[in-house]
Amino acid sequence: MSGAIVWLREDLRLADQPAFAAAAREGWVIPVYVLDDETPRHRRIGGAQRWWLHRSLASLDADLRKRGSRLVLRRGVAAHVLADLAAETGARRVHALRHYAPWWRNAERALADKVDLVLHDGVCLLPPGEVRTGAGDLYKIFTPFWRALRDRMPPAASIPAPERLGTPQEWPASDRLEDWALLPTRPDWAGGFDVWTPGETGAAERLEAFLPNVAAYDATRNLPSEEGVSYLSPHLHFGEISVAEVWRRASGPGAEPFLRELAWRDYAQNVILARPDYGKANGLPAFDPFPWRDVADPEVAADFRAWCRGETGYPIVDAGMRELWATGWMHNRVRMIAASFLVKHLLIDWREGERWFWDTLVDADYGSNSVNWQWSAGTGIDANMFVRIMAPLSQSEKFGAADYIRRWVPELSGLDDAVIHDPGEHGARPAAYPEKRIGHRAARERALAALSMIR
Ligand code: FAD
Repeated sequence: MSGAIVWLREDLRLADQPAFAAAAREGWVIPVYVLDDETPRHRRIGGAQRWWLHRSLASLDADLRKRGSRLVLRRGVAAHVLADLAAETGARRVHALRHYAPWWRNAERALADKVDLVLHDGVCLLPPGEVRTGAGDLYKIFTPFWRALRDRMPPAASIPAPERLGTPQEWPASDRLEDWALLPTRPDWAGGFDVWTPGETGAAERLEAFLPNVAAYDATRNLPSEEGVSYLSPHLHFGEISVAEVWRRASGPGAEPFLRELAWRDYAQNVILARPDYGKANGLPAFDPFPWRDVADPEVAADFRAWCRGETGYPIVDAGMRELWATGWMHNRVRMIAASFLVKHLLIDWREGERWFWDTLVDADYGSNSVNWQWSAGTGIDANMFVRIMAPLSQSEKFGAADYIRRWVPELSGLDDAVIHDPGEHGARPAAYPEKRIGHRAARERALAALSMIR
């Protein structure tokens, strides 16, 4: 009997996974994950995501073993490793889902030169590149993109997980997951990550828990003190649940605001398909000469460090940055405030923040991260204009962040709602909590002066 390899990447699931379904029809199946830390231009997976990846791979292996199969782990340049494995096992072809980060597209091209590679759609609601304007162009602006995508929903019916998977006569050798050292040890900073359950079962449970709240999402999604969002982003990034399945299950009265957010994820993949360097290059080249403060300068480096550590003196920013460090995730409203603060208050290049998020977020995604950073910075093709400078203190009040701050900034846990958003202003700043790195008005003036230099 012949068979095929399934090359797994950020699609670590069995249900609604067209690569598994296609391979299963061909005979035996060898599921493979290749850890590639070698290829130049391949962005190494960040620290927080290594933790997630370890758990997710362990979970997928356990699910495969229930079906008589297993996960083969190999390390190296994906195209070489997979071509060698195909030769070693006599696999007829390799099935995989199509991915859009530039390094994945390079790897797909390199592998297709060596083996019969069959790529399937299944990472987005609609294949990136398919949603186009009447004139056939890709959308630059999100809202018309969303309308065009919504007109083509709902997604097709789900593909059930295979009940059994055929096995090769002999399993090829596999690395041991423990030997990949994906989990932090010295120090182990991942204690707070136990709020997560990586893997397909954990993803399904998150979705079930969120479904009763879908209709309330619009009213609660901006309130960081409440659990008003789905927490599905890392599961979606690693493909432990298909976004199509989330769409189908969440659909119903009052669901549109949530479904619209799912479409942002698709939009971001469309942007990086059209502009593979979006994580490095300004969407608007007019920003190329922007006079960012230089992080090599010790004073600027101290500002950047204070932002990373949640010690800026702005409680809402600090709460967000500490939530990020502790759990690998940050509430969306607070991501927007923290990103705007880095770029506009501290005048530090958005790329520095993008890199920090890349390393610390469990949901770090090349498309979503770069699109949202460029949106926040005002440098993107569909951006919040640079001159709209978010006021962190009034945002904090408006979105009722007092409980959120008390939770993540223990120095402020004794302060009441009236003073917690801006303790310094009310003479209520405890000695243990830092002073503001820069006042809001001074920061605003500095940012606008910098902008005028490129106008
Ligand atoms: P929900 O509000 O429940 O939304 C459901 C899903 O929709 C999310 O899981 C996500 O897949 C998608 N989604 C929602 N908002 C966005 C958005 N603005 N852009 C893209 N997809 C969205 N999201 C990432 O998945 N990875 C990132 O690396 C990332 N970096 C970001 C950086 C900045 C500066 C900002 C402002 C936002 C970033 N986001 C990123 C978007 C957003 O903050 C997260 O997707 C969201 O907070 C995840 O929480 P949730 O799953 O509870 O989202």
